[in-house]
Amino acid sequence: MQTVDVLVVGAGLAGLCTARLLAGRDLNVLVVDRRRSLSAGIRTTGIFVRRTLDDFDLPGHLLGPGIRDVLLYPPSRRSPVRLTSDRDEFRVADMAAVYEHARRAAEAAGARVLLGARYAGMSRGTVRFADAEPVAARFVVGADGARSRVARDLGLDVNRRFLVGAEVVHPMVAGGTAPAFHCVLDPRVAPGYLGWVVDDGRHAHVGVAGYPDAMRGGVRRSLETFVADAPGCPVPAGPVERRGGPIPVGGVLRRLACPAGLLVGDAAGAVSPLTAGGLDPCLRMAELAAEVAAAYLRTGDQGVLRRYDGGALRSRFRGRLLLRRGFAGLRSPAVVEAAFAGLRSGAGRAAAARILFGDGSFPDVRPRPVGRAGLMRG
Ligand SMILES: Cc1cc2nc3c(=O)[nH]c(=O)nc-3n(C[C@H](O)[C@H](O)[C@H](O)COP(=O)(O)OP(=O)(O)OC[C@H]3O[C@@H](n4cnc5c(N)ncnc54)[C@H](O)[C@@H]3O)c2cc1C
Repeated sequence: MQTVDVLVVGAGLAGLCTARLLAGRDLNVLVVDRRRSLSAGIRTTGIFVRRTLDDFDLPGHLLGPGIRDVLLYPPSRRSPVRLTSDRDEFRVADMAAVYEHARRAAEAAGARVLLGARYAGMSRGTVRFADAEPVAARFVVGADGARSRVARDLGLDVNRRFLVGAEVVHPMVAGGTAPAFHCVLDPRVAPGYLGWVVDDGRHAHVGVAGYPDAMRGGVRRSLETFVADAPGCPVPAGPVERRGGPIPVGGVLRRLACPAGLLVGDAAGAVSPLTAGGLDPCLRMAELAAEVAAAYLRTGDQGVLRRYDGGALRSRFRGRLLLRRGFAGLRSPAVVEAAFAGLRSGAGRAAAARILFGDGSFPDVRPRPVGRAGLMRG
């Protein structure tokens, strides 16, 4: 049986980045994923916000054109509110390329990546897989997504509140309009969240997310309804890809670490409860997680693990969790249409711009101020 210092379960953005940073600290790191290819089974749209692009060095060739215009639509789709920033606020990434890039960076730092290995449980430091040999690990990082099984097996907290999202990605008709982010607030198709149309320069992403209990007929049905008259949607040349999955929006979990392991990314509930953005927190939390795990493995001091404290982080989410509860309660199209009138006022537009263009989506949890941190380099 092979023995490693750290086994990272999940080769999403959180797992690959944490693995790279741990391997860069001279630890023997193995990353496993049940997926057979990192280009398959992608769940996310891949919208990176300005703050992430400012703080982390994501190579430009992985990203679509900068987006400055957001159009907000009421349920009737009539007279959208247009918000325009003087900076590039969003860029949609080619996520298959991002994962491959992050994989190469982790491997360059010394981590090994094993695909097609489904985590099946652990006991006393031995991790079992449905389809691979067991591995003995000193420490396990749960990067296995929103419904983390590793979190449960480590006896750590698990996500309990979810949105569910789904989207189609299809080629755009060449020579289209300037890229824009179309957001539709319509509780009939996206109860408690929104429907979106956004492009990455080559593909349009058309999706919905909302509370599953309020999506009559399920998320696929909601998506079909939305796609039928989605705004700003180029004539589809047939979907090339379907994406989707649960999005934890209950805020960062309290118990994130124990002597046997810790959680990162969606497994840690590290998603902005308000915007449901989780890519920035993958990068931000990986740095703290790697520093704490490496210090613990070096010293054996369990006190070090207290620095990876979800309880302390949660206190910085109070406002966002409160606003999420407010959005969750907006279930009637007539009420949303009426509330939308407020967005047309100066104060409403300013508040929307603060949420969409602001810097506060996810607090900075990095161990200390650093320059632009490389996605590739450790
Ligand atoms: C439809 C949708 C659109 C979204 N759009 C955006 C967006 O545009 N911008 C944004 O910031 N956030 C977005 N999010 C949220 C964001 O995608 C996630 O927060 C982020 O991708 C989480 O990354 P992760 O590495 O923690 O988890 P994941 O990317 O889910 O990776 C978990 C990995 O663990 C693996 N795994 C799971 N179980 C096992 C097992 N038993 N054994 C082995 N491997 C296992 C999975 O195969 C997967 O590769 C979106 C989410 C959804 C659902």
